[in-house]
Formats: sequence, structure tokens, C-alpha cells
Amino acid sequence: MKHIANHPATADMQALDAAHHLHPFTDTAALNKVGARIITSAKGVMLRDSEGNDILDAMAGLWCVNIGYGRDEMADVAARQMRELPYYNTFFQTSHPMVIALAEKIAALTPGDLNRTFFSSGGSDANDTNIRLVRHYWASLGKPEKTHIIARQNGYHGSTLGAASLGGMAAMHAQGGLPIPDISHIAQPYWYAEGGDLSPEEFGLKAAQTLATEIERLGEENVAAFIAEPVQGAGGVIVPPETYWPEIQRICDAHEILLIVDEVITGFGRTGAWFGSETYGIKPDIMTIAKGLSSGYQPIGGSVVSERVAAVFAEKGGEFNHGYTYSGHPVAAAVALENLRILDEENIVKTVATETAPYLAQRWAELGQHPLVGEARISGLMAAIELTPDASARAPFLEPGSVGPICRDHCFGHNLVMRHVGDKMIISPPLVISKAEIDTLVDTAHKALDLTLADATKHGLMKAGSR
Ligand SMILES: *Cc1c(COP(=O)(O)O)cnc(C)c1O
Repeated sequence: MKHIANHPATADMQALDAAHHLHPFTDTAALNKVGARIITSAKGVMLRDSEGNDILDAMAGLWCVNIGYGRDEMADVAARQMRELPYYNTFFQTSHPMVIALAEKIAALTPGDLNRTFFSSGGSDANDTNIRLVRHYWASLGKPEKTHIIARQNGYHGSTLGAASLGGMAAMHAQGGLPIPDISHIAQPYWYAEGGDLSPEEFGLKAAQTLATEIERLGEENVAAFIAEPVQGAGGVIVPPETYWPEIQRICDAHEILLIVDEVITGFGRTGAWFGSETYGIKPDIMTIAKGLSSGYQPIGGSVVSERVAAVFAEKGGEFNHGYTYSGHPVAAAVALENLRILDEENIVKTVATETAPYLAQRWAELGQHPLVGEARISGLMAAIELTPDASARAPFLEPGSVGPICRDHCFGHNLVMRHVGDKMIISPPLVISKAEIDTLVDTAHKALDLTLADATKHGLMKAGSR
């Protein structure tokens, strides 16, 4: 592994970090007490920190490093592109070879007639684009009153004002007066916590039907779109019951609304197909992409639109008064294109589908048998376990959110990055993870669960609460 040997001492970097760096999604006071863990290099699925520890990254960064770390081809392509054309914009009737090639490749890979991409720098701004895009679409068709967007509780669509409003994260809405007007949130298909006595299939139908109820409440003539993730990621890897997406699709087809599918996590192989829309049989009018599009090597995202949507722009939209300085950035586009070449030519998505996802599913199910675990669920190479004081009752802890962080710390202490969402533990490893590395991941998680159970018992945290 390449190692930058000359960085300053860890404590010095932590002090400077605390003095000058405001971290995203972080309690700054709590961070400054312990100091940030400083990652200095990475290769494959392994991170190295400034103390020389090698850590298995079961989150692929933030769900994004699909091809794994340290691919020289990606660096070479970026350097070549910076020398040739480091920047040019795509406003004002100009384009450049890399963004053209990338847009064509995305059109070829995405299902159905999703053939045109509006580029952004990430998922949040792509979803902001989607808000403006669907409203402009309906206005262009003479229906300017169709502005309302229906989203879901506990969905995640990013952190800008618009994207966080589409998201259904209560903690985000609590800061800064969100959501913005004309966005509302329906039920999520989270059977484990919200299914009660219904079977997962019954509950999936019931959750989907809240979309029809909401369209009726608002009046179809006021609704522009519905947005959802095929599998909720940041919400806790919530895999919907099998009945959910077919019913959502039926409701969208029966109404005059657009379906926006946020594939920022599920895109580019995560669920064992190129797109979650294929895994779950969804037909999006607009697809949000980012993260795995470049495997995180460069910031790039986009909104891929169907012919139905594109036609309105081509025929009667006039100017779309919207764009980003870095829409279709040439270096990001070149790097994304190389990432897609690697995913494609090295059969990475197929290997996930036929080998590593089935193997992880089998080993992940073993964690479901642990006394601290109420459910183990998985879709391709994204998975979750629910920690519980009483598995048979699917009970939450009396103090919600008290046990997940303990488990996360035990994982980190054993050189495994696993994330907690409340008392759920989640993973989304690089798609190139091997079976031997899956063994290390699951064995370490098992050890962490044992230690967590001992701690939770010792500290009196194993009391059940109610939903
Ligand atoms: C991460 C994420 C986003 C936001 O992407 P950023 O690049 O962080 O702006 C949007 N949607 C989903 C489903 C995500 O997981």
C-alpha cells in the first residue's frame, strides 16, 4: 500500500482539524474531545489511518467507492484530462468530448428510454435540479399548478434545502425551517419497525397505497411527482417487501405524475444489477445518479430523464433557467467514464450478482441468529441488522439509539468501518470485496456484537421499549 510517510503527527493534525475545519453531520464539541480519525491512504477495500492501522471499509466511503480504492487508471485519466482540458462549461451552446461520451454511456447503461442526462456535482444538487425540472415540465405542458412533490418519511435525498426537504429526516427538518412548501411525506415500507401484526407482503401493499391516498388528498391536478429510493440507504438499508414497488408503479401509471427514482446509492451495481430499478422492476421517468457513477473519485452526479420528459424540453420548454458551473465537468466526466469502463469490462456487477452478494447473504443471515439481532436484511451488497433487546417481539430499546453507537465503536476498535443508524448497523462495501474479505467483515461484526451485548447487559440497556 502506498503510504504518505511525511504527514505531521496525528495529534498535530487533529488540533488543526479542530481549529479550522467544520465537519458535516458532526457534533463538533464531541468530535473535538476525541479528535478525528485521520485516513491517509487506501487500497481495494482497506483504509490506512495516520497511526498505521489497516481498516476494512464496509461502507465504501459513503456508499460510493464501488470499484474500490487505489485504481491507478483513474488517476491517469484525471491527469491526462487536466492537461488537455481541465475545465470548460456546458452552458451557452458549448460541449466537450468527455461529457458527450459520458452522457452516451449513461444512456446505454440505464434501463428503458432514460437517454439524456443533466449533470450536477453530486446527489443533493441533482435532486434540487429534479424539483425545478418536474415543475418546469408541467408548466411547459400548460399545467403550472402541478408543483407538489410527494416523498417519504425517513427517505434521504441529500442535504441542500431542496433535497433535505424531499428527504424525510426529522432531525434535518428540525433545523432551519424545512421542508420548503409543496412537498409532503408518506409512509415508508419499513416492515420491521412499522409492520405490526401484518405480514411483510400485506404491509408492503398498505405502505404503497398511502401514495394513492396522498394524491387524492392533494388533488392529482396539483401533483408533479413522487420521489423514492429503491432501497432506503441512509434511513437504515430498508429493503421494501416484494409487494411494495409493483403497487407504487401501478399507482404512478394510473395517475398523471412523474416518478423520480433516486438511485444515488442503488445505481451502478449496488443491488446486483446495474440499477435498483431493474432489481425492483421500476420504470422511472427521472433517475437521480451520483456516488457510484465515479466511485467517489471525483464529485459528479446527474438527473437522467426519459424521452417523455426530454421531448417537452426539446419541443416547448424554452430556456431552462438552471445550471451549475461544474455541470459536466470534464475531469469528473473523464473519471466517471473510466469508472464505468472498469465496472463493465471487469464484470464487477455480474460478480456481485452471481458470487459475492449470494455469499454475503448467506454469511449475513448468520448474524441474524445472534441474540442481540432482531432481523438481518440484504439487497445485493447493501445490508442491515436490527439490534434489539427482544428479537421475538422486534422490540426497540427503552433508550433508542443507546446501543448502536457501542457496536459501531467495537467495530472501529477491531478495524472495521460499519455505520450505525440509531440501533441499526449497516454496510455497503466496495463491490470488489472478495469472499475472504466478506469472512473478515462478518467474523469481526460477530465479535463486535458479542462485546456490545456484554456492554449493554452490564450497563442495564437491554430493556425493551415500545414503538
Ligand atoms: C448520498 C445521497 C444523496 C446526496 O448525494 P450528495 O452527493 O451527498 O449530495 C442523495 N440521494 C441518496 C439516495 C443518497 O444516498
